[in-house]
Amino acid sequence: MERGLENLRDEVFRRNPGESEFHQAVTEVFEALGPVVSRHPEYADAGILRRMCEPERQIIFRIPWVDDAGTVQINRGFRVEFNSALGPYKGGLRFHPSVYLGIIKFLGFEQIFKNALTGMPIGGGKGGSDFDPAGRSDAEVMRFCQSFMTELYRHIGEHTDVPAGDIGVGAREIGYLFGQYKRITNRFESGVLTGKGITWGGSLVRPEATGYGAVMFADRMLRTHGRSMEGQRVLVSGSGNVALNAIAKAEQLGAVAVTASDSSGYVVDEAGIDLELLREIKEARRGRISEYAEQRGGTARFVAGASVWDVPGTVAIPSATQNELDENAAQTLVKNGLIAVAEGANMPSTQKATELFLQAGVLFGPGKAANAGGVATSALEMQQNASRDTWSFENTHDRLETIMTGVHDRCLETADQYGAPGNYVVGANIAGFIKVADAMLAQGVV
Ligand code: GLU
Repeated sequence: MERGLENLRDEVFRRNPGESEFHQAVTEVFEALGPVVSRHPEYADAGILRRMCEPERQIIFRIPWVDDAGTVQINRGFRVEFNSALGPYKGGLRFHPSVYLGIIKFLGFEQIFKNALTGMPIGGGKGGSDFDPAGRSDAEVMRFCQSFMTELYRHIGEHTDVPAGDIGVGAREIGYLFGQYKRITNRFESGVLTGKGITWGGSLVRPEATGYGAVMFADRMLRTHGRSMEGQRVLVSGSGNVALNAIAKAEQLGAVAVTASDSSGYVVDEAGIDLELLREIKEARRGRISEYAEQRGGTARFVAGASVWDVPGTVAIPSATQNELDENAAQTLVKNGLIAVAEGANMPSTQKATELFLQAGVLFGPGKAANAGGVATSALEMQQNASRDTWSFENTHDRLETIMTGVHDRCLETADQYGAPGNYVVGANIAGFIKVADAMLAQGVV
């Protein structure tokens, strides 16, 4: 890493102690930026990178609510409004027991560059809570969401900050959050949240967009080498919204997706995942992944407590969570003949795993490029809300495809320009950074 960047990185670590995921996200960006800072001294003169690492605003609040047994529960809520140079803060909400400020800051920081890469007018932010929706009744989730929004509402708005979903926040949660926002503000302000239900301001393709986009990105990468998704044996981790839709798109493009996982283990199905069955178990019933193997029989088996990355495959779409794919897993995957990775989750590969993939010549699409389809389609939802219009599935899907092609090409061209041909990590970080840096430069020291 370049000397000035190293000093700045150390300063960021000191100012944000104990936030290891945030440190990791910052390190990844800094490692790519060496050639940019030497070509553009004006960025350092204006303190661009130092400002970028300090969120514009960080909100932390108490979320009191009463569970079904009548017990008072307290959770902690976060919204980190990281950067508004390109548009209103935009990024999801994560409800998961692991959530603390360091996780929200890593996600918010990534979101700045990801959103810039989409070419849409959106800034970067992220929020969430350490609330665990697992095992909670609908009524409990509703009361929690209402309490969360009772504080959050004063910080958001269609021109200010536009949250959406992430892990633990899907259509149900967005519904309860929107209802409470509408009640408090007495406004049907559809552009304040994205991921809404289709009859009340949501966009077609938004539910599918992250998973679809990641597989489209993998397909684009493969095509630069005269291949495609067709005939690939695809390994997907996770079994949430991103994973399910990655499996769907892989199948549409003629690949065979053979795995899915959750925190209890993974399933491998040699005949290809039966998506209808998996959706019924995970989406309709919120059940465990082992039930898939029990009900599918013959071709499928469940492996408890092991890594899905032990399964041989040619394309990996990690779609579970951060740091789910480490150096050992990367080694196994490379040994087993992997040719491409497109990250459906945010930062699922550890830094060492990423390095290993790059050294081995695996086509590697980092999350801030490969999973940008979700937030890009959120921006399309905002456009529809602003014009009080609804677009067809085909039109929205075409727009998503064009956006993903654009993200892919921008990464590749930028990597070329900065002396790292074929390196999507360098390309994504530099292209995202320059777009935001130029806007910040133009807008002065704010
Ligand atoms: N949580 C998603 C992401 O990581 C989507 C955010 C959004 O749609 O605003 O990009």
